[in-house]
Amino acid sequence: SKSGGRSMVHFFTPDMDERAQKRLQLESHLRRAIERDELSLCFQPRVQARSAALVGVEALLRWRSDELGPVSPSEFIPIAEESGQIVDIGAWVIAQACAQQAAWRDQGLGTVPVSINVSALQLRDGMLTGVLRDAMAAHGVLPSSIEIEITESTLMDAAEQSLTQLRALKSLGVQLSIDDFGTGYSSLNYLNRFPIDKLKIDRSFVHDMLDDPTDLAIVRAIVGLGHTLGLRVVAEGVESVEEAALLQAAHCDELQGYLFGRPMPPEDIPDWIRQVAP
Ligand code: C2E
Ligand code: CA
Ligand code: CA
Ligand code: CA
Repeated sequence: SKSGGRSMVHFFTPDMDERAQKRLQLESHLRRAIERDELSLCFQPRVQARSAALVGVEALLRWRSDELGPVSPSEFIPIAEESGQIVDIGAWVIAQACAQQAAWRDQGLGTVPVSINVSALQLRDGMLTGVLRDAMAAHGVLPSSIEIEITESTLMDAAEQSLTQLRALKSLGVQLSIDDFGTGYSSLNYLNRFPIDKLKIDRSFVHDMLDDPTDLAIVRAIVGLGHTLGLRVVAEGVESVEEAALLQAAHCDELQGYLFGRPMPPEDIPDWIRQVAP
């Protein structure tokens, strides 16, 4: 909590002590996850809103710890970010995503564009551009077939600094998208200056839009804003046919969510593509 001193009164409860222990446990196990081969990537399809044709896949990190079993990204990514481990893990994700795209290509699937999530710490540590350039070169990956997703809050936290990092990334020729858009209070001034290609509407708006007119209005406003700035707009978390229809009517460009496909292991992607191909 950001409420300052008062919250400290509640800090040292047995409950918090347990949570702190769990956190330390996760952090120490995570430290060995790469060398023990416990990390993997799942891939979730993203489709064209008009035709439902495949646009690309998003790489989503999975951790199955030998001792702890599967741990969800919402649990371990924040820990990896706070401990700094996300820099090494993120480099592993980038290399693995590029290797997987090359493997699909070698299986005759053609080029499947891949989106990769990148954390604030990776963006700021200065190695990201080099790591990405090397991984693409090592696997013969076309930069235009890689998309980097950065959350809106990450970018706006240090907007001036982010601008420099984004330009360096963009100079590689990759696509850039702002993730969880609508939750991070973007300055429109920066939005216009960032060298970005896409906005990804946060799934909380998509989830509530059928029942809540405010959320529907926000979704439409984001699509309008994105198109005015010359950006493509993606909706994530699309779970129902009704949501897909509403997003299509709102001129959203791309859709992602359980309705079209869950995150799946890479070996399932070829079958998924064959099923949806006309
Ligand atoms: P995200 O980037 O917003 O990814 C989308 C999340 O929504 C994924 O959760 C995905 O499984 C889930 N999702 C997709 N479609 C639907 C749907 O229709 N309904 C619902 N309810 N959920 C849906 P996941 O895989 O648990 O990842 C959670 C978050 O962890 C990601 O959110 C991202 O912020 C982070 N993350 C995952 N992989 C990486 C990574 O390699 N690097 C970094 N830095 N962060 C990652
Ligand atoms: Ca994402
Ligand atoms: Ca998101
Ligand atoms: Ca709401």
